[in-house]
Amino acid sequence: MLNSQQQQFQKGVVQVTDNVFTAVGFHGANTSMIVGKDGVIIVDTLKGPQSAKEAFEALRVHSDKPVKAIIYTHSHGDHVGGASAFVGEEMPDIYGTENFGSAEGTTKAAGPVKQKRNVRQFGRKLSPMESTNRGVAPALTADHDGGNGFVPPTIQVPDDGLKTTIAGIKLEMHVAPGETDDAMFIWLPEGKVLFSGDNFYSSFPNLYAIRGTAYRDVRSWSESVAKMAEFRPSHLVPGHTMPILDAEAAVTALTDYSRAIRSVYDQTVRGINAGKGPDQIAHEVKLPADLRDKPYLIEFYGSVPHATRAIYSGLLGWFDGNPTTLNPLEPKIKAQKIAELAGGTQQLSQQMQTALDKKDYQWALELSDHVKWLDDGDLQLARKVKIAALRGLAAQEYNAPNRNYYLSYANELESGELSEIWF
Ligand SMILES: [Zn+2]
Repeated sequence: MLNSQQQQFQKGVVQVTDNVFTAVGFHGANTSMIVGKDGVIIVDTLKGPQSAKEAFEALRVHSDKPVKAIIYTHSHGDHVGGASAFVGEEMPDIYGTENFGSAEGTTKAAGPVKQKRNVRQFGRKLSPMESTNRGVAPALTADHDGGNGFVPPTIQVPDDGLKTTIAGIKLEMHVAPGETDDAMFIWLPEGKVLFSGDNFYSSFPNLYAIRGTAYRDVRSWSESVAKMAEFRPSHLVPGHTMPILDAEAAVTALTDYSRAIRSVYDQTVRGINAGKGPDQIAHEVKLPADLRDKPYLIEFYGSVPHATRAIYSGLLGWFDGNPTTLNPLEPKIKAQKIAELAGGTQQLSQQMQTALDKKDYQWALELSDHVKWLDDGDLQLARKVKIAALRGLAAQEYNAPNRNYYLSYANELESGELSEIWF
């Protein structure tokens, strides 16, 4: 399934309308060129100058007019780091929202561990044999120059948006918090083209990123996508994956997407108010039946259970309401008691091995995490079981971040680079 998603970022330039072109698959995200009377406008700039330059050369086949403006849909690195490749002799105006850059600031303190988790989520160190793709982006992108071409915005788009004319092209920028608080979408009234940024792409949205991010306001995300649908675009250009070039398909996709996000949110809230904890809610919430098979809602990138957990902690914090979890046993003590319950450390190890043999991978992982704390536990065996169980889970997984994380972590365990805290 994940391999079939590959066609969503097949490298090439897609002609969206007479004067709008989108370069897909040159890096993780898309970059687009709008051709006006005496210049062009660029929407998003990829992650670094090298891939941006390559994409720009491919776009340049359609126009060699000077770049009058660059618009950032939001501040994530894969959309802003290649800007310098589009700057010619004259400095273009660069547009971003007023709170541009706020996205990652709140969790900066945890930078070192976020970096490790980022490498795992995107499978940056996986071998070509292990890699498929990143759900909404190809694997193995050129990242050595990431961020090197970033040019800060020179014009701030206020909260109530901006309507302007650039190079004879009428366009509107609408602030639309979602994946990030600093996101906006761009609307071309004449061609009825809508650039959604990362609030829409062809996959269930990443309402939570396992690399570790601050809470993404899920309700606002749903509302922002609903607002996009109200424009009834004829052409929808996402931040990642192929443009949708049919009016009915574009409006349906946006409407479904907004409804899917809202449904996950509402079901989670109902679960919360029924007194359920995040573990139970994560297993109960499902997409509405009529949305489950929509190709743009398959969980290639985002995950419904992860989203429910994020909503839970976003609204209530870590405590699940059950007093048992106010002060749970520390992991080592708990592991000793679990071993006792199993009849001893040996028996616990055996159960762990049996779980693996039965391909009960999640249980094998959970038991290996207990064995690793035991002074008399066979740590080597526990490590081996964990590696095998992670690879077993990965083989069944079409959610790219999960799959990448399982495989990357297994490799780190195998190479011995993980410290004892991690294992
Ligand atoms: Zn992106």
